[in-house]
Amino acid sequence: MSDYSFFEGVEKNFERAAAHTNLPDGLLEQIKGCNSVFRMKFPVRINGDVEVFEAYRVQHSNHRMPTKGGIRYSDGVNQDEVMALAALMTYKCAIVDVPFGGAKGGVKINTYKYSEEQLERITRRYASELVRKNFIGPGMDVPAPDYGTGPREMAWIMDTYAALKPGEIDAAGCVTGKPVTQNGIRGRTEATGRGVYYAVREACNYEEDMKALGLTTGLAGKTMVIQGLGNVGSYTGTISQDEGNVKIIGVAEYEGSIHKADGIDIHELLAFRKKTGSIIGFPGSVTLENNASALELACDILVPAALENQINDKNAHNIKAKIIVEAANGPVTPEAEAVLLQMGVLIIPDMYANAGGVTVSYFEWLKNLSHMRFGRMQKRFESNRYELLVDLVLKMTGKDLNEQERNLLTFGADEVDLVRSGLEETMINAYSGIRETWKNKPEIKDLRTASMVYAIQKIASDYLSLGIWP
Ligand code: NAD
Repeated sequence: MSDYSFFEGVEKNFERAAAHTNLPDGLLEQIKGCNSVFRMKFPVRINGDVEVFEAYRVQHSNHRMPTKGGIRYSDGVNQDEVMALAALMTYKCAIVDVPFGGAKGGVKINTYKYSEEQLERITRRYASELVRKNFIGPGMDVPAPDYGTGPREMAWIMDTYAALKPGEIDAAGCVTGKPVTQNGIRGRTEATGRGVYYAVREACNYEEDMKALGLTTGLAGKTMVIQGLGNVGSYTGTISQDEGNVKIIGVAEYEGSIHKADGIDIHELLAFRKKTGSIIGFPGSVTLENNASALELACDILVPAALENQINDKNAHNIKAKIIVEAANGPVTPEAEAVLLQMGVLIIPDMYANAGGVTVSYFEWLKNLSHMRFGRMQKRFESNRYELLVDLVLKMTGKDLNEQERNLLTFGADEVDLVRSGLEETMINAYSGIRETWKNKPEIKDLRTASMVYAIQKIASDYLSLGIWP
């Protein structure tokens, strides 16, 4: 067991980082604490009986509005967890320059126990509780998916909000992560996993840092183990495999974990699990002792993408990975982190590594407020201009292009291209900012402290610009 609760752990990280800033105590206190905690209980009729559900929405910081953060459905949801996740959202938004404050929501529920229709009623009731207390709205607080929720739940929330706020022209911006056909954005579903991929790719680009780990630069050929093949873990896996040539040698899911030294094709594994309901028995793989065993496999990159506290004081000593990318929120406890840093492991912290989701949520919110798909105005214009340019160059040089080459040079960017490019740019810039903070202050020994210092300084500068602090 950890000595700290999840929220206390986040506070400890904050305090450790705050010591590297010269900011006034009052300001640090204001940044650290949670501004509003809404704890609710609501009844829903289930199979003829009334069941009472416990749920939360926490707004950690309103220094920028709206606040933003996912909604978690899990039977482990509690106030401390939602507060910790809301705080992480504030730091995450600051790191990736997303102009929101942090928030998070949660419903204490085991989703496997309820039918789709029951989940819809529970979600709609939760959404109406948020409306009732003004804890949702495009300029107020904008939820998104998290563990146990996805586009389906977001669509129910948007519909409930719109029904309760007739005529609100920006109603679609009250929630992000919606299906593309219902005011969502192309590239949102994959965004967190894609962001994790960019994060680890960036980290592996620095020769000095890789040398310290005994690794070469670049992702190609590096081995990876993933815990959790849900939204974040599955896209991290497929994109790392397809675009980074990473070899995934181990996977852990709820039902157990598997190892395959010559590489697991994640597309095939996902199809296998869909068909059989399990990763166990995947052709060519070895089944490990339990669902935590894969975490201890020797590999270059370990991606915990399930839930918090997965790497703790019990298993930290057995970790053999050189890099841990925190795709989940809070997967490494503070005690485990102390051990891992001693062992020389590079930990890419959650508040940066999984910020791809909120980054693309920001793009979706902008799309909703503009009421127009990205790329609609310029796609044809760009494409026509490139056609002219290519024709001119070919005429001048006397050379020719095949159809594929011509298409590549003359296509105009579509929504998904712009979203991916915006996400890539964001993750590259943020890593460079964090790394600079890390390298410029020799007393900062790890990327989590550097990320937190980087975030605190940005949030503080927002507050300082208000002129209320000396
Ligand atoms: P998800 O529900 O889609 O997937 C989680 C997966 O983890 C599930 O497949 C589940 O079966 C598996 N799992 C649960 N316990 C496990 C265990 N002990 N061992 C192995 N596998 C286990 O959730 P998600 O949206 O992918 O979120 C995962 C993590 O990423 C969470 O910590 C969440 O807060 C974080 N996150 C998600 C997003 C997002 O956009 N969805 C954004 C930022 C951070």
